[in-house]
Amino acid sequence: MTKNTVGVIGGGQLARMMIPPAIELGVEIRVLEEAPGMSAELAATGVGDYRDLDTVLAFAETVDVITFDHEHVPPAILRELVARGFEVHPGPDALLYAQDKLQMRAKLAELGLPVPDWAAIESADELGAFLADHGGRAVVKTARGGYDGKGVRVVSESSGADDWFLALAEDGHGGALLVEELVSFRRELAQLVARRPSGGTAVWPVVETVQRDGVCAEVIAPAPGTGGKLASVAAEIAERIADGLGVTGVLAVEMFETTDGRLLVNELAMRPHNSGHWSIEGAVTSQFEQHLRAVLDLPLGSAEPRSGWSVMVNILGGPAEGSLQDRYPAALAAHPAAKFHGYGKEPRPGRKVGHVTVCGDDLDDAVYVARSAAAFFEG
Ligand code: ADP
Repeated sequence: MTKNTVGVIGGGQLARMMIPPAIELGVEIRVLEEAPGMSAELAATGVGDYRDLDTVLAFAETVDVITFDHEHVPPAILRELVARGFEVHPGPDALLYAQDKLQMRAKLAELGLPVPDWAAIESADELGAFLADHGGRAVVKTARGGYDGKGVRVVSESSGADDWFLALAEDGHGGALLVEELVSFRRELAQLVARRPSGGTAVWPVVETVQRDGVCAEVIAPAPGTGGKLASVAAEIAERIADGLGVTGVLAVEMFETTDGRLLVNELAMRPHNSGHWSIEGAVTSQFEQHLRAVLDLPLGSAEPRSGWSVMVNILGGPAEGSLQDRYPAALAAHPAAKFHGYGKEPRPGRKVGHVTVCGDDLDDAVYVARSAAAFFEG
């Protein structure tokens, strides 16, 4: 029987944005949401704890393929699913490298991919030694559980991560922190690639991501000035990672373009990613449609852009009072060429509650309109 039902674990906005292409393709989509009323409520078949094996198994029984809105499902549960013959994309052996930054650094280094100088450290002394070798400043990261800049800290003293070492010790599991050189970068880029279980890949153009306070604020697709070699180097890095790690579905590779012109891999995400939201309007095949195709092992669509530039601006926090929708009449009237996306989430400071995308042939224009349109939802 042809596989046609995709089960998504996690009910956030990424699951939500998989719903329209599922409807268009005639693919069935079911979501296991972690709480009632989440972004992907429309396709939710129930509320359940993704850390509970029985809950996840019961959900898996109702679908052909399991995929994810986030990377937090414990590896042991994923392995049990695979052991019982369920299809899981990406699989636990790949997903591990998006769940654990130390494992990721070690694997990428083993594959010969360009990464910042790094080390696994277990004490303040080891941090001190790394600082001494790297000009007195470095970035310390928790291996697991970080997101949107939480679990990432610039330090200049060997005592700068004492609280994290203590937390690891109290956790009972011990373990190490990741320390990296403080990369001097010109800008941050992201390269998305989709890969099918049977091996075919599709790459979108490399994009520029602008982070504020560790959170993605804006994305420009393609990244300005990447018409030539930089684009092919970025694409090659992402394809090597997708193949080398056996990733299935969408893979986002966050990179630094260093001030001396190198590309270094920072982070991996194995699911649709904020840096690919522009593709809903800006590419022939969006990352959400492509993810569905990939996890069902269907032929991938073209990832070519549909216009010269796409600019995506996140709506962070949202209105201080009321909902996003309260602002729609004014915002939509002012910017008929902008595409507005609301995630059905309560506004809260710093929270990603929606985004705006503007496509066009003039980059300055697209940036201006996208920023102005998003600004309607602030304050
Ligand atoms: P998260 O898991 O929270 O996304 P990241 O590892 O992507 O954490 O780091 C968040 C941000 O911190 C990055 O987007 C970048 O701006 C900055 N950062 C991370 N690592 C480094 C580094 N080695 N050098 C300089 N800046 C860094």
